[in-house]
Amino acid sequence: MTKTTRTIARSKPALSNPEAKLALFGGEPLVAQGRVTAWPAAQNKKHIEALRAVVNSGKYHRVNHPIVTELEHNLADWTGKWMTRAVASGTAAIHIGLDYVRNRGNRVITAALNWPGAVGPIAICGLEPIFVDVDLGLAGIDQEAVVNNLGPDVAAVLVTHLFGNNILIPQARSVGRARGIALVDDICQSIGALKAVANGAHLESDALALSGNGAKHLGAGELGFVLTEDPGLIEHVDQVSLTSSSRSGAREFSPNSQGYNYRPNVFSSSIANSRIKSLDRQLQQRRSNGALLWQMIRDLPGLVPIFNPSDHTQSMLNFPLRLEPEVIGFRPGSAARDFVVKLLQAEGVPVWVWLTKPVFNYLPRIRKDWQASEFPNSVRLLDTMFYVSEIAPPNDAGVMKLYAEAFHKVWEALPKLLSQVPSTVTAV
Ligand SMILES: *Cc1c(COP(=O)(O)O)cnc(C)c1O
Repeated sequence: MTKTTRTIARSKPALSNPEAKLALFGGEPLVAQGRVTAWPAAQNKKHIEALRAVVNSGKYHRVNHPIVTELEHNLADWTGKWMTRAVASGTAAIHIGLDYVRNRGNRVITAALNWPGAVGPIAICGLEPIFVDVDLGLAGIDQEAVVNNLGPDVAAVLVTHLFGNNILIPQARSVGRARGIALVDDICQSIGALKAVANGAHLESDALALSGNGAKHLGAGELGFVLTEDPGLIEHVDQVSLTSSSRSGAREFSPNSQGYNYRPNVFSSSIANSRIKSLDRQLQQRRSNGALLWQMIRDLPGLVPIFNPSDHTQSMLNFPLRLEPEVIGFRPGSAARDFVVKLLQAEGVPVWVWLTKPVFNYLPRIRKDWQASEFPNSVRLLDTMFYVSEIAPPNDAGVMKLYAEAFHKVWEALPKLLSQVPSTVTAV
């Protein structure tokens, strides 16, 4: 990436101050290399001890390994409500949750702005998706659209919580429940949604899928969890997942296994377990970092947060923002966002563009059945959103201050730069 940006910089030699100071055009990056700690923020001593415990146990696998069982108990305790089973990944957890309810209908309602991996299990279960638009202010499934699509052929609503956002949609949940439609929550990015977040109550959900992968809050390698109140779903985990029913320790084959072998990795489980004790502290730091950063950049024109960074129940996996192109003199579309992200990245701020297309465009088998134009809010978000990563400890207020200074540096230069980007993307 640095190479391309350098080339662009050289092809624009006529730049004058202040933009010449921008790192993209050869200036000094505001955030020095090595200043930011990237998640999963390895803690050598603690994590090596966790791995050593597995080695000392003499067993590197098994669903009923004492380390896995302890982790399941500790996570369940932390949530204050849900029964918990560790599985191989967040994707496996979504698959198991949907598989459990797949006989209730043949379709699953989910958001067009979504992670392709979250939607994949719908087809694995032999179900068909109904895509609906998202709420522009939350990047989560639109409640009214859910209610309008709750027909008799619907087995489940799959609610994806992106970036650490809580997607409460209480009305859709209660209407769905009343009609026997299952509520499956993909909270892979929102571990805090396992706690009481809906006005002091836990989410009304039939199955919650959590990821423990290295990018998520438990930052543990490859790992996932199914959480529920339903003992039938807890039993179903093994039916989808285990070929030999080793949970009891017996060497026998399950009479009705689907054989996906979604067993949790014991090494990852041990790391995840070691992180649970500090999970509240981690969330606290993420939230205060996000709130502080927003406070320092909120006056910059065109910037809109995707959820309220001062909300003390969201999980702030990353800090998602939107850039309104028209406000800074660009035409609608993604060019303004892409340009600003490039400028910020050059300054050393960890900002990223993630999804750029509605989820069905990532899925070749169903792509042709859906049109992006049917989902205006999703398209608007996909064109304009980006996120700040590395908002987690040990990064602190000092690091947030650097991010904010880089935003200000870029915004100061924007009016002048505007005359130098291709006129096809500017409004002037
Ligand atoms: C990470 C993630 C998943 C999948 O979790 P894995 O453990 O990587 O399989 C699913 N949905 C969302 C929204 C995610 O962020």
